[in-house]
Amino acid sequence: MNKVTVADINFRDRRVLVRVDFNVPLDNQQHITDDRRIRSALPTIQKIIDDGGVVIACSHLGRPKGKFVAEMSLRPAAVRLSELLGQDVQFAEDCIGPEASNLIDNLKSGDCVLLENLRFHGEETANDPEFAQKLAALADIFVNDAFGSAHRAHASTEGVTHHFNQSVAGFLMEKELEYLGRALSEPKRPFVAVLGGAKISGKIDVIRSLMDKVDKLVIGGGMVFTFAKAMGYEIGRSLLEKDKVELARELMAMVKNSRAELIFPVDAVVASEITDTAETQIVDVDKIPDGMMGLDIGPATIKQFSDSLSGAGTVVWNGPMGVFETEPFAHGTFAIARLLAQMTESGAITIVGGGDSAAAISRIGLDDKLSHISTGGGASLEFLEGKKLPGVESLTDQSQVKAL
Ligand code: AMP
Repeated sequence: MNKVTVADINFRDRRVLVRVDFNVPLDNQQHITDDRRIRSALPTIQKIIDDGGVVIACSHLGRPKGKFVAEMSLRPAAVRLSELLGQDVQFAEDCIGPEASNLIDNLKSGDCVLLENLRFHGEETANDPEFAQKLAALADIFVNDAFGSAHRAHASTEGVTHHFNQSVAGFLMEKELEYLGRALSEPKRPFVAVLGGAKISGKIDVIRSLMDKVDKLVIGGGMVFTFAKAMGYEIGRSLLEKDKVELARELMAMVKNSRAELIFPVDAVVASEITDTAETQIVDVDKIPDGMMGLDIGPATIKQFSDSLSGAGTVVWNGPMGVFETEPFAHGTFAIARLLAQMTESGAITIVGGGDSAAAISRIGLDDKLSHISTGGGASLEFLEGKKLPGVESLTDQSQVKAL
């Protein structure tokens, strides 16, 4: 990590704009159903409070598209943050303007305020320079702890950094970059990537980027069937991206010439409908019967994947192995989650790229059993694709500080 982090800074008497990711799920009564994202930001917020700084936290929630939407207010997050910190957290009903600045003017060292949803202003996602400047004017220094939003160049992730002398990474951001960064730059080998999910289209760049870094590339999920089609297999009514069959063929040829060994399923759980009561069969992956859909990896594939993963030093997992939201097709995804938990106990570094795989791990209570579960699905995928994340690139480099 070549970025300045909160650990390098004493925040005493400084007003600190902290971009957090409080994009939490809420039920109909505005109750937070999962507060993990708020808890993940606590170490950074607590450090600033303990130093005697003033915390001005800001976040987006949902997609209000530039207007006030009561159901997307961050007020419940302020209440929850206050409970978790064990101190009062003020709430500013607008993230810029006199409401926010008057409130902030009255804060003392060690106080904390949460600003209302940034996306109630369309200028946030448009990365409007004037909006970014107004946001930045509220504080003396910027901390970005929202890894989940780092792949977006928005006003609060990129725009504001142009108005601060120092923009530094929070502890969560640092942890994410260290785990993902080390996996790519100096992985404990063998290094295995397990990729699943619905479509090839979302995973092309990550396959391209990882094929020369990993020792094995394990493929599951719905995208299996576009590859299977390219190999001339019978795929029945399984998910198919017709326009990606040629690309699947090219990718397979590229993998053949790369460092990675491609591990492809041998069997599948098939059914004619995606329901909790669907009748299922196990068939070879190249012979999906007419009218049937491949909806999960089968038992022989679970065994094959387990053998391939056995002894791995580093595993990166992104995307479910099947339609895990529906019970009859969840087995393969949960089996991979359990396997990674066991491997972690035996010393492997296991990293999950957020999103659906993280949700599956949560469903079976294994959150604490893997080395690192990313808080950013999209951001971690872009990182693994080798893309530069604007919210990270714009942070102050260690070398810039040394040069000052
Ligand atoms: P993604 O967003 O591309 O990671 O895809 C996640 C989705 O892929 C989940 O909602 C799964 O239900 C879906 N999925 C996984 N395997 C299959 C499959 N064999 N057929 C259809 N959908 C699948």
